Amino acid sequence: MVVVGAGLGGLAVAARLAATGHAVTVLEQADRLGGKLGTYARDGHVFDTGPSLVTMPQVYRDLFAATGGRLEDDIDLVRLDPAVVYRFADGTRLTMPGTAAAIPSALDDALGAGAGAQWTALMERAAAMWRISEEPFLRRPLAGPATLARLARRPGHVATIAPWQKLRGLGERTLGDPRLGMLLDRYATYSGSDPRRAPGVLATVAYAEQAFGSWYVRGGLHRLGLAIADRATAHGAVIRTGCRVRRVLVEGGRAAGVELTDGGRIPANVVVSGVDATGLYAELLPTDRRTRSARRNLARVTPSLSGVVLLLALHGRTPALAHHTVLFPESYDAEFDAVFGTGRFRGEPRPVADPTVYVSAPDDPALRPDRDSESWFVLVNAPRHQPGSGVDWTQPGLADRYAADVLDLLARRGLDVRSRVRWCEVRTPADLARRTGSVGGAIYGSSSNGARAAFLRPANASPVPGLFLVGGSAHPGGGLPLVALSAEIVAGLVGPA
Ligand SMILES: Cc1cc2nc3c(=O)[nH]c(=O)nc-3n(C[C@H](O)[C@H](O)[C@H](O)COP(=O)(O)OP(=O)(O)OC[C@H]3O[C@@H](n4cnc5c(N)ncnc54)[C@H](O)[C@@H]3O)c2cc1C
Repeated sequence: MVVVGAGLGGLAVAARLAATGHAVTVLEQADRLGGKLGTYARDGHVFDTGPSLVTMPQVYRDLFAATGGRLEDDIDLVRLDPAVVYRFADGTRLTMPGTAAAIPSALDDALGAGAGAQWTALMERAAAMWRISEEPFLRRPLAGPATLARLARRPGHVATIAPWQKLRGLGERTLGDPRLGMLLDRYATYSGSDPRRAPGVLATVAYAEQAFGSWYVRGGLHRLGLAIADRATAHGAVIRTGCRVRRVLVEGGRAAGVELTDGGRIPANVVVSGVDATGLYAELLPTDRRTRSARRNLARVTPSLSGVVLLLALHGRTPALAHHTVLFPESYDAEFDAVFGTGRFRGEPRPVADPTVYVSAPDDPALRPDRDSESWFVLVNAPRHQPGSGVDWTQPGLADRYAADVLDLLARRGLDVRSRVRWCEVRTPADLARRTGSVGGAIYGSSSNGARAAFLRPANASPVPGLFLVGGSAHPGGGLPLVALSAEIVAGLVGPA
């Protein structure tokens, strides 16, 4: 069997299938493993270039258990406490504890009496949503009406999930303080979405993060991908880098293998695609009747937002800097309008003038050349790369100008590191698209904008028998834990050898 792409999805499914006896070959176009879960090292500074936050560690424990290992033997997983420091435009600083029980009093202290109780009430509702949706939705293949029936299996389930309700609306109804609303809104971006259009059930993202914790992998999160690759090869999987698949071969109506860009062909009775689903259906498969409805569904959804990343090699240390810091802007709506080309920027997405800035600065000796240095990963939300009809991130000078703006913004919001920059490597949505094949540099495949988005996401079993989809652009969605769950679903669909 062939797995296309050695991102987390491809590696996790390869490990699971190899462990159940399949002869697995993984083909990766890049010269290294991990896809978006990437790393960059220069002059002793080491960075994760993609994910910086691990949530739902139980998902990886399951993966390691199913592939004959113990997660903790292979990687050093550290629970973060505090989880993150939020700073709001009005100057409020909220240090979010890493354990759920400590959160209400931290909210009361930072935002005023009553904030903790409001958030707790919302998290209780989110916990109920989680109990209803986790097993039938996140852990099973999409099955149209059967999935809906499983979600509505008891009276009251539909009212709890309230599929018609938007995340923003849920926040407005339950949270009095606009700063709490911003906190909730931010979880829409974990699936690349706009909280004004994404469903309220995304409150489960906040619940899962707070209930199961925020985690870091010592040495960098990319080590998680490498450890999973080791699980796969331990079971005999072969991983080939520098191998770009040009098309999936379909013979007699079934997947029959792949053709590489060098013309080579690899026959296989099962092909698992871990590449961006939009790219798969547009470029790797014949555009025939069979795949029409999958392509039509993809055309109906809004692609996920993208991001601009600054990798900052700094000399000197920042006193009392948290592992994760989020600096909120005055107006979140202006940010989402710029990213998605809505509201005042209708049809004209643009780099966000005053974005939320996220800084991940692990205090980890493995990531810096010496004790007097820091390696910062800075991320701001951005519209995807869309030359012609949106932002062309390859425009000369745009990336560097925008990076300078972000550094100025950081300084205005209290983190001025401009005089400490040894060097800054900027990664735009166009770079992400080029490096990982994600169309337009969309971070999470399709967004959750719209009540039906979750059901329009490409299914794990494609319409072509023998071809399966794993990864963040397929069901159940993007982000490391869901990608790992997609691998579990696909391994279940394929079955043991
Ligand atoms: C900046 C950034 C920050 C993020 N932060 C977080 C976070 O904090 N927490 C979190 O949980 N998630 C985060 N994510 C999301 C997470 O990284 C992704 O959801 C996940 O890594 C996607 O894995 P994947 O296997 O689906 O896809 P990818 O990692 O994109 O893997 C696809 C692979 O397929 C390869 N490929 C593509 N086309 C071909 C071809 N034709 N032939 C051969 N190979 C091909 C690519 O090179 C790539 O290696 C972040 C992502 C980014 C970009």
